[in-house]
Parts: sequence; structure tokens; C-alpha cells
Amino acid sequence: MSPAPPPAIIRGYDVLISAGHEGRPASCARFPQHRCNLGARGERTWNPIVANEATRVLRAHGLRVIRLPADFAGVYAVKIAVFIHFDGAVPPCSSTASVGYPLRADSRVAASWKRLYGRYFPFGFRPDNFTGNLRRYYAFKQVRAKVGAYVLELGEITCPAQRAWLAPRLRWSGDLIAYWIARLIDRGHVPLPANVLVRVRRGSSR
Ligand SMILES: [Zn+2]
Repeated sequence: MSPAPPPAIIRGYDVLISAGHEGRPASCARFPQHRCNLGARGERTWNPIVANEATRVLRAHGLRVIRLPADFAGVYAVKIAVFIHFDGAVPPCSSTASVGYPLRADSRVAASWKRLYGRYFPFGFRPDNFTGNLRRYYAFKQVRAKVGAYVLELGEITCPAQRAWLAPRLRWSGDLIAYWIARLIDRGHVPLPANVLVRVRRGSSR
């Protein structure tokens, strides 16, 4: 058998944003080479909300964004690629947010995300690339990205305290991701989103 021809490279976009697990299980049959991972409970609802918002803001500021579900064909040449996820853990609350990337050189860009998100997210981060799914993410092969390709796990959706913090901040985290991306690739003309202030319900502990 002769080797498969190299895949055509798709150009013309600055940013690739994929929502983790989105489109599954329907897309799984067309991509038997991918594990049909459906994500933690609730992720397939939350990931697209964040991905859509980041895409909307970047496009509103003139950046060319290709917005993809979990499974897609082709190889994209972009400046940066981001794969949006929330973690799930057993037992609950044994994980937090994290970042995955294929190249050690990308750790500086990952650190810039953790500095930014960590100003707000109060639950800390797991070490970069702490799972095989992070360091060998299946879609890294489908990206040629000058500033790198990153899996952003925005927190542990299966942890009630983190979930309660995250739930009112889904669109805000998309805005924050858009701000971060623009700073990395475009000298940053996307504004920093205003912090989300959540009113604490009083008297409920009695
Ligand atoms: Zn996931």
C-alpha cells in the first residue's frame, strides 16, 4: 500500500475554535479514528456557549475565526487554535482547570492564560498536560498554529462549588478567551470583559 497523500492545508483563518465533544455522538461514525468521548455530564451544553461567545467577539473585532465542533476534517493553518472543555473527575472536586498543548515551547503562552484566568478563577490549576488527553489531544494533528494549539479546561464541571462559580460565567469566559487570543495575535484590541459579580443568596444556610 502506498502512503496516504498529505492532507490539504486549509488557510485563510486567524483562529480555530472548537467546542469539545460538540456534535457527538452523531459525528462519531464519520470519524472512527477518534474516540467517541462524550465528555463530562453537561459539557456538551457548556462548551459551545463558551466557543460561540469567543467566536462572536473575535469576529466582531475583525478576526477570521473558523468555529468547529469536536470532529472535523482537514488540517488548518492558523495563528492559534483553542479547544474548549470542562473537566469531569471521580471523585468530584479532585480536579480543577488546566491547559494542554503538544509542544513544550507553548508553556509560556499557556502560562499567560493561567495568569489571566487565575485572576478570577479561585480553584487553581492542575499541572499543564497532566493527562494524555491534554498532551496528545487528537485534534492537535489537524492544526498548524504559529502561536500554538491549546486545550483549555475551564474548571471541573462535576464539582458543585466550581460548577456554581462557572455557571453564570460561561459567556464571560468566552469574552475572556477572546481578549487573551487578541492580545496574543493581534496586539489586543478586544477589551477585557467586565468581571461578573454574582450576588450571594443570604440566609440559605440556616
Ligand atoms: Zn471535555
